[in-house]
Amino acid sequence: MAHVPREAFVPEEARADAYADAALALSHGQTISQPYIVALICQALELRGDEHVLDVGTGSGYQAAVLAELARDVVSIERIPELAAQAREKLAAAGYDVEVLVGDGARGVPERAPFDAIAVAASAHELPEPLYEQLVTGGLLVLPIEDSLLAVKRTEAGARARFLSLARFVPLRPGLPDD
Ligand code: SAH
Repeated sequence: MAHVPREAFVPEEARADAYADAALALSHGQTISQPYIVALICQALELRGDEHVLDVGTGSGYQAAVLAELARDVVSIERIPELAAQAREKLAAAGYDVEVLVGDGARGVPERAPFDAIAVAASAHELPEPLYEQLVTGGLLVLPIEDSLLAVKRTEAGARARFLSLARFVPLRPGLPDD
């Protein structure tokens, strides 16, 4: 995280607060997650450097940048096209080779699956089945369900969930903005 210039991912007017351990407002009513939560998600994903990772809810692109520092490659998906376009630009400008797609991340990205690890930055009522299905056996998925951040491991014997922290996230919304 010390390598990632968070100031490059926050809106211009929030630059002075870029290194506060706080969530900050983005456009379209979305937020860039608190650094502590980004760290907790990355730690729980147990990345060693050779993973193929899916990041759901690109937002500012900051979480994707941190994941790109820790894994082999990162695919990120965002439902709001304007946020995806901005994040794509910011990630490229900061030197991160992250593929940013526009779409409903609750469906995962079947054409890039399976993933070794999946990070979700928007809260659902229940585990989106396609995301679990797109994990390798032994893979980890970190996601908020309501206000609980969970780590879910896919095992031969089924899903094993572990509670990580209480945390507030924006809602995981179905479909695209004008669906
Ligand atoms: N990881 C981001 C956090 C952004 S907030 C960061 O580091 O800045 C969560 C993001 O999830 C928002 O941008 C929101 O638009 C997006 N989102 C919500 N529902 C989604 C869905 N179904 N598919 C993809 N993105 C979604």
